[in-house]
Amino acid sequence: MEPVCPISSSCATEISTLLSPPSPPQLQEYYHNIFSATLCSGITVKQDHNFGKGLYAAMDFKEDQLVLKDQMLLGTQHSFNKIDCFVCSFCFRFIGSIETQIGRRLYLRELKANESHACDVGSSSNSIQNCHEMDSSGEEESTLQPCSGSFKTRVPLPEGVVESLMNGQLRLPCSDKFSLPPSVPCSGGCGEAYYCSMLCAEADWESSHSLLCTGESSDPRRREALLKFVKHANETNDIFLLAAKAISSTILRYHKLKANCPKEKLKYDASCVSDNSNFSLLLEAWRPISMGYKKRWWDCIALPDDIDSSDEASFRMQIKELAYESLQLLETAIFDKECEPLFSLEIYGHIIGMFELNNLDLVVASPVEDYFLYIDEMTNPDKEEAEKITQPILDALGEDYSTCCEGTAFFPLQSCMNHSCCPNAKAFKRDEDRDGQATIIALRSIRKGEEITISYVDEDLPFEERQASLADYGFRCKCPKCIEQEP
Ligand SMILES: [Zn+2]
Ligand SMILES: [Zn+2]
Ligand SMILES: [Zn+2]
Repeated sequence: MEPVCPISSSCATEISTLLSPPSPPQLQEYYHNIFSATLCSGITVKQDHNFGKGLYAAMDFKEDQLVLKDQMLLGTQHSFNKIDCFVCSFCFRFIGSIETQIGRRLYLRELKANESHACDVGSSSNSIQNCHEMDSSGEEESTLQPCSGSFKTRVPLPEGVVESLMNGQLRLPCSDKFSLPPSVPCSGGCGEAYYCSMLCAEADWESSHSLLCTGESSDPRRREALLKFVKHANETNDIFLLAAKAISSTILRYHKLKANCPKEKLKYDASCVSDNSNFSLLLEAWRPISMGYKKRWWDCIALPDDIDSSDEASFRMQIKELAYESLQLLETAIFDKECEPLFSLEIYGHIIGMFELNNLDLVVASPVEDYFLYIDEMTNPDKEEAEKITQPILDALGEDYSTCCEGTAFFPLQSCMNHSCCPNAKAFKRDEDRDGQATIIALRSIRKGEEITISYVDEDLPFEERQASLADYGFRCKCPKCIEQEP
């Protein structure tokens, strides 16, 4: 049964206005503001009739030169990664200390192993589990297998060690060289969100978390609905959590705009497409998201390899149903009559589609890995002394001690960058990058006026494989390399 969303039809006019592409001046203004905020002087965004947006060099860049740092608009850590990495919920810096990172991870892993042992028997598998969660299934012992990695090679620590790592009683040798910002818990009391600073805590609260916090202080009915929404997202696809942030941030921006807008101006500006005189404010609040979206999720998601093309229609329908399930849970939790169009399946599908299409991996390297490498590079007798303490911990962590923070994020500038199989730039994490910003570095010298391109896929793959992967992004590549290699 095709899901029918009443808001999609009752707000059809507003929805189509929200989904119509921004005008060139709006586009220029939006990116101009981003450039001035991030102090990027060397680039411009240009709109092209055929290829959409593109990023161009406004100055010459040398090989290896930093082209830009792109501040994420929205981001979220993957649910399965939360056990392994304790990071700021806003900027994704690692927080706490090396000891809390390790202690918390061992503790939560143990907890999860016990939990899944108790309640995983015969639980139904949902249609599109996160691929990482699927990958980690060592079938025969899946009830004992925690999040990822090789359980068998891990050697548990003596009793009490994990606790003293978490409460700070046990200090690891030289860990002071890897100091991390202390963790600041969410003031709403959800116990889910932690930050690297009050600044991040306040920024997140203002941008979306005040609507999505499941703390005790929120209305109990809303809280229960939110918890259901989050559970559903964790069990199906955590991209819904990012979509919820997109909607919440739009609602909060809308209310901020309304509060700052004089009453007379509101009446004067009354939008012609709606009897809701505040619709023009909603449009403005929606602007950052409108720069990115392209297609509905269920229309653009790539067909998984294990699904036959004859089942494509029913697969896409399933995806649509899943999105509607999630949206209804979110609606129960945070519905806002003044922002009603945002709760339509049409808008929800476009938001998720934008995340799906825009190549948005968020990766932050782990300081725990750096720490163990540091110990490994020490010289004797210090090394021997240190390893008496660190080796049992390394054994307890197992092979995947170096897991990075992983998530999904939307980067406004990176999302405008077009693909080339012979790109002149790449998205890169440098050693000094300790947060979720995207850094773009020149791979060779780039001349002023040249388009800046990155590769969405491994550019060393053979021609056919490249084209197949790029088909997931909805285009056939006609870069110089592809034109030359076209059979
Ligand atoms: Zn932070
Ligand atoms: Zn909270
Ligand atoms: Zn190509």
